[in-house]
Amino acid sequence: MLPTDLTDPLYTDETKAREYLEAIRWPDGATCPHCGGLPERVTKLEGKKHRAGLYQCNECLEQFTVTVGTLYERSHIPLNKWLLATHLLCSSKKGISSHQLARNLGLAYRSAWFMSHRIREGMRPLSVKGGLGGANKVVEADETYVGGKAKNRKNHTPPKEAVVALVERGGSVRSFHVPSVNGKTLRHILRSQIDRKSHLMTDDAGVYIPLGDEFAGHSAVNHSIEEYVRGGGFIHTNTIENYFSILKRGVIGTYHHVSQKHLKRYLGEFDFRYNERMGLGVNDTDRTVKALKGIEGKRLTYRRTGQGTDS
Ligand SMILES: [Zn+2]
Repeated sequence: MLPTDLTDPLYTDETKAREYLEAIRWPDGATCPHCGGLPERVTKLEGKKHRAGLYQCNECLEQFTVTVGTLYERSHIPLNKWLLATHLLCSSKKGISSHQLARNLGLAYRSAWFMSHRIREGMRPLSVKGGLGGANKVVEADETYVGGKAKNRKNHTPPKEAVVALVERGGSVRSFHVPSVNGKTLRHILRSQIDRKSHLMTDDAGVYIPLGDEFAGHSAVNHSIEEYVRGGGFIHTNTIENYFSILKRGVIGTYHHVSQKHLKRYLGEFDFRYNERMGLGVNDTDRTVKALKGIEGKRLTYRRTGQGTDS
């Protein structure tokens, strides 16, 4: 079990951290990341000659450690700090800024920034199966605007990045950064992400009206006349609005602003924490373990841009 006590040796001792990650990645013994060689064909290289945690595959004769083929590969940051950073990011409801992470872990800002984006990538599902909702299920759809430049907010210029999100009541959320909210983008997202047997719940923006016909049912809340809940408590979009409120408090309060380029990664982070939440029986430990399992088979392909902020 992953401890929630931040002074635990797992977060301070590199060897313990490595053994923990090995146990998560290889519950049945080390498998070769180069050729898929099975544990019985893998030898642990012990002794002073070898660096700690080194294995050799007797199929392809390549050597490897637990981080080869993962998002943590080729990092000079000790694994105990990786575990701690992953735990912090998974257990902080509104996220944790790279500045905060740098201070907490005794790292340079640049290192903390790289780490946090790798960890976010680990939270991203490799593939998304099926549509949200289904028969007798309600899916709420709504849009919001986040980010934008801080100096524009001071001048009361509205932040400009549009986000469309769908949430199944009692289930998962999926958020999308879109260039603009219009019939075309909404049609594509709703059709590809929601099971047609669902009951669609939206506000009364005209753009949702024709789309509603494509689902088993559609109700629209008229926010303009302050009609927020009707139909015996059935007709509302409170679930998605609550989600947006956590997202905005995180983006504004923790990350200050996020660049257009990386917004989807932050959305992925907030989606992940929501989808792996206490209300569904997932605790901080389970959530962190899931993010640790997600580091496998992924690569980061971008470089940092911008200076001094979580951009
Ligand atoms: Zn091999």
